[in-house]
Amino acid sequence: MSRLNKTLLPPTMLGILGGGQLGRFFVIAAHEMGYKVTVLDPDPHSPAGAIADVHLCKSYNDLAALEVIINTCQAVTTEFENVPSDSMDFLSKKINVSPSANCVKVAQHRMLEKTFLKDAGLPVGPFEVIHTEKDIPSDSSSIYPAILKVARFGYDGKGQAKIASQKEAIAAFNQFSKQICVLEKMLPLDMEVSLVLARDYQGNIETFDVSENIYTNGILDISIVPARSEDNINDLVKQLAKQVANALNYVGVLGVEFFISEGKVLINEIAPRPHNSGHYTIDACVTNQFEQQVRILAGLPLGSPRLQSSAVMVNLLGDIWMQGEQKEPDWDKAFKEDSLKMHLYGKYEARPGRKMGHFTVIEQNPDVAFDKAMKVRSFLGITKYQRETLSLILSH
Ligand code: ADP
Ligand code: MG
Repeated sequence: MSRLNKTLLPPTMLGILGGGQLGRFFVIAAHEMGYKVTVLDPDPHSPAGAIADVHLCKSYNDLAALEVIINTCQAVTTEFENVPSDSMDFLSKKINVSPSANCVKVAQHRMLEKTFLKDAGLPVGPFEVIHTEKDIPSDSSSIYPAILKVARFGYDGKGQAKIASQKEAIAAFNQFSKQICVLEKMLPLDMEVSLVLARDYQGNIETFDVSENIYTNGILDISIVPARSEDNINDLVKQLAKQVANALNYVGVLGVEFFISEGKVLINEIAPRPHNSGHYTIDACVTNQFEQQVRILAGLPLGSPRLQSSAVMVNLLGDIWMQGEQKEPDWDKAFKEDSLKMHLYGKYEARPGRKMGHFTVIEQNPDVAFDKAMKVRSFLGITKYQRETLSLILSH
């Protein structure tokens, strides 16, 4: 079943594979519109499972759990990039699944993803696919300095190593247990941006505004909207993201990450789901990225993605719960700041680098939004990377 031929009205039960924070926001959006949600996630402390109508606490390939979804849900989506595409295939024989198993398969495998983009004529940086040691280029190659990335299961900069030479690439490839990897040229970055869009069953597309993203240690740290990139760059970013969605015949919410390198726009990677850099849409847009996901699944028309104000989003990682003796960040001080929307995901346990929440500062003036966000960031103890982040911003 690839096409939705009728609108699903509330209180229809919708299904989602994966129950992290993206799933939790999906549940919230679905509930706001009167739908029910079943979450499949093996984690008993799943943030989405905790607020869903039904939490199937089973593995993603548990046949009995997949049967429950088939029998109780009218349509199913995913928030977890590494969900087995076989499970999605299985579900799609009986109920509507979006995005399709094939789209998820491409997005979750760096080799398929990069190759698909390149073959579609879309701009990507230089890369080599590494199946065996023999595929690693010699030192004379222009690929170095490079980054070796495992093809599967990498996220938030995990499964990546910076490489200066063939020898280092061989060592890192062995350290990654000789899994298929992609070796990418390390690009000089002017800026990183992303584009989140929604594409429905009829092929209609709505794009959100371009977000300017600052990463720290490979993890998204700050998103600034509107991005400070030039209009012609932003237009190209939107156009390329739409081309990606159309080439994949993608149905659902898609996040596309871009590098702006020496004035050129290159696609970094795609995410077959709402994207962390689109969290600002919850507080700053008429329709947020999760509501678009619900609308698509239910066969409703897409909502307006219109941006109503400037927004600066800051991710809150587990590190801020772990500073010296202090167990809790200084929430009182942060909450005293006006124009701040705080989102905590209800995660059971804080760990370094784990996304625990985010906040968004909403202001008409983008400079005021940025200054306030940086102030709250330091109130919450995010001082470790602050100077580095600020110098990055100033160097733009
Ligand atoms: P993940 O799946 O972990 O998000 P990415 O490939 O997006 O992996 O890499 C995370 C971050 O690392 C990027 O946002 C960027 O800051 C940096 N990075 C990754 N690849 C390159 C590259 N080829 N050149 C320069 N920086 C890169
Ligand atoms: Mg990325």
